[in-house]
Amino acid sequence: MNKKEIEKLKKTVLNKATLVFDQLTRQQKTKTFEFGEEYKGFLDKSKTEREAAKQIVQAAEERDFVNIDTLLTKKQHTCNKVYKIFQNRCVAMAVFGKEDIVSGVNIIASHIDSPRLDLKQNPIYEDLSMALMKTHYYGGIRKYHWLAIPLALHGTIITSENKAIDISIGEQPDDPVFTVTDLLPHLAGKTQNDKKISEVFQGEKLNLVAGSIPLGSDIEKERFKLGILNLLYEQYGIKEEDFISAEIEAVPAQKARDIGFDRSMIGSYGQDDRICAYTTLKAILDIKQSENKTAIALFFDKEEIGSEGSSGAKSNFLEDFISDLLFVRSKDCDSRTLRKALTSSSCLSADVNAAMDPDYKDVHEALNAAKLGFGVCMTKFTGIAGKAGSSDASAEFVGKIRQVFNKNKIVWQTGELGKIDEGGGGTIAKFIARYGMNVLDCGPAVLSMHSPFEISSKADVYMTYLGYKAFYSDND
Ligand code: MN
Ligand code: MN
Repeated sequence: MNKKEIEKLKKTVLNKATLVFDQLTRQQKTKTFEFGEEYKGFLDKSKTEREAAKQIVQAAEERDFVNIDTLLTKKQHTCNKVYKIFQNRCVAMAVFGKEDIVSGVNIIASHIDSPRLDLKQNPIYEDLSMALMKTHYYGGIRKYHWLAIPLALHGTIITSENKAIDISIGEQPDDPVFTVTDLLPHLAGKTQNDKKISEVFQGEKLNLVAGSIPLGSDIEKERFKLGILNLLYEQYGIKEEDFISAEIEAVPAQKARDIGFDRSMIGSYGQDDRICAYTTLKAILDIKQSENKTAIALFFDKEEIGSEGSSGAKSNFLEDFISDLLFVRSKDCDSRTLRKALTSSSCLSADVNAAMDPDYKDVHEALNAAKLGFGVCMTKFTGIAGKAGSSDASAEFVGKIRQVFNKNKIVWQTGELGKIDEGGGGTIAKFIARYGMNVLDCGPAVLSMHSPFEISSKADVYMTYLGYKAFYSDND
């Protein structure tokens, strides 16, 4: 073969990764940056699953999606776009297609919960001259990430009179914040530096500093705690017992920011997995006319603690929603029809993968690791030690999605979560696969995943959105 022939062959047979920024036209680049701005706004307003659910429902209603539970109480069902919210923490949206639901729907399923510090049910106590609050971390965190940074409190408290009080303290510039203390380097030698990370940072030491002005004289017992309870009672009418029926989350008190001189990346808390939630939301909102297949967007809670509970992906939420859709459309929602609809469907499990980190290349296998900026990432399998716990997507389904993406000029890559035997993880894919439908993990790769400041590429965010749109329109 001569040089020219070899070049031609290389173009034909070699699989070369494409950098999104190499591929974008000037107009697309502008759109990419505009999309990034909107996405940052969503992140700032969606620090918890409840807040994300609220944002999603608001966006849906603005685009004339109707609450399916309201619709079901009426006799006539002539609506094309519906949504369902469950327990204020889990949302589904659908745009009916031309085909029957029983012949299968196109689902994109993400999660809107993120790792954080939850307040315990008896949080407030005092020590030395301070009031503090006990937390119990939620999801996989590196505990040291949460020390000595400003934290905001977000959540809902159900009072003894059954009143729901929403709180958000620490997001406005003049709001106070909370923080977990850390040891000064001068004294950290024996206590921290000489020990293993897993031993040094303990969950029970993730306590929030909450105040230091006492109430009453110095003979008063628990007067620092009382000082805080007094303020809470005055400001919100909250009593100590109300914390029992509350979900209050301490999250990083900072806004999403551009990263780099060129502003090409976004740094923010909660991008796992609100990056997929937002791109899915935008993709389904964009459907102007019915596609052939019904398009469904699912936004689950509880993924970070194993998809448990009634608002997690292990629940019946998806089945219930599809059964509602069948009923609204054709009144035919017997169990056989429902099963047939479920098994005939396709799903993108929209979740992030880990981008290869320039400082920690060793934990990845370069040939199969996802890289920042190389587009939306298809992850055929997840799992730990020999794919354990993974829903391994079929070659046929991966092939189908690959075709859809190529047809729509989506820049995509594949990824594996770390080297074999290095660790691993899972997504909601396997809980959806149990219905018999095809499921493939698909989302952008991020750096510093599960940290208070995760990094994404604006190009990947935009490409993910375009990829999800392509799936809704072309996965027939
Ligand atoms: Mn995730
Ligand atoms: Mn996660």
